[in-house]
Amino acid sequence: KSSMEDSYEAGDVIGTGSFGIIRKVVRRVDGQVLARKELNYGRMDERDLKQLTEEVNILEQLGANDNIVRYYERFVDKPNNMLYILMEYCPGGDLAGVIQRCRKTGQILSEEVVWAYLAQITLALGDCHSETDAKGQRKRVILHRDIKPENVFLDELNNLKLGDFGLSKAMEQAAMTQTYVGTPYYMSPELINGQPYDVKSDIWALGCLIYELCAGHPPFHEARTQPELAVMIREGKIPDLPKPYSVRLGQVVKAMLRQNPKSRPNTAQLKALDEVKMQIRAGE
Ligand code: ADP
Ligand code: MG
Repeated sequence: KSSMEDSYEAGDVIGTGSFGIIRKVVRRVDGQVLARKELNYGRMDERDLKQLTEEVNILEQLGANDNIVRYYERFVDKPNNMLYILMEYCPGGDLAGVIQRCRKTGQILSEEVVWAYLAQITLALGDCHSETDAKGQRKRVILHRDIKPENVFLDELNNLKLGDFGLSKAMEQAAMTQTYVGTPYYMSPELINGQPYDVKSDIWALGCLIYELCAGHPPFHEARTQPELAVMIREGKIPDLPKPYSVRLGQVVKAMLRQNPKSRPNTAQLKALDEVKMQIRAGE
């Protein structure tokens, strides 16, 4: 196996995360541009390291979905405690950038684009959440656990790619509390109540994301502290979408934001919505 330096030429840093950076690289054999996540695992304990390895394995298994960032290969540099993950490069930035640009220019996303984005993330999550693969074989359910605008990337055609798979999860747990200073706006009621994360917690986060794409801010953004936020999330009063979004879209968002996880739609039910079906067909 050839070394990473032999195979890739390092380029600019394009993003920063909690435990490292993301850099643009060029694959020397064919000039293909890829993204490289560079993680320092030096400060992680045995358990977190094990989970990190596990997460990279998950990434590897999620190869063939147009709406999931494609994984290529990994390198471990043991002397320096560095893990390098080579993946598809998404030149369009992330959805946080899209939301920010909208806010700055006073523009809003069209209803059509919001449905298209919902459809694409649903297709990505559907693959993760389903218990059987295309051949009908049983497989493991994968929970993303960190759906938010910063973790959904865009390619050159503005197709969405779900990224940052659980990795940040494994890593954030290592450092936890000290590093987490933000307000966890996308946290579901069951997580606030200390119940385990499940597929419907991903659906809750997706509901928050779609809401934010329409409103320019997450639901409950008025909360200024975490306890205040927890109260608002548990109260379950979901604000309406602003004009000009349709009643229909508002209903779907509210369904994803139901208090009881069991009452929220799963990915199959989201895919079956006429508006989503139309977007899926248009994307094929
Ligand atoms: P972390 O786990 O530290 O949050 P992410 O995987 O979310 O790391 O990457 C951090 C940021 O880097 C993202 O929000 C995005 O802006 C950028 N980024 C990550 N991966 C890619 C990629 N494949 N292509 C383009 N930009 C990326
Ligand atoms: Mg991230």
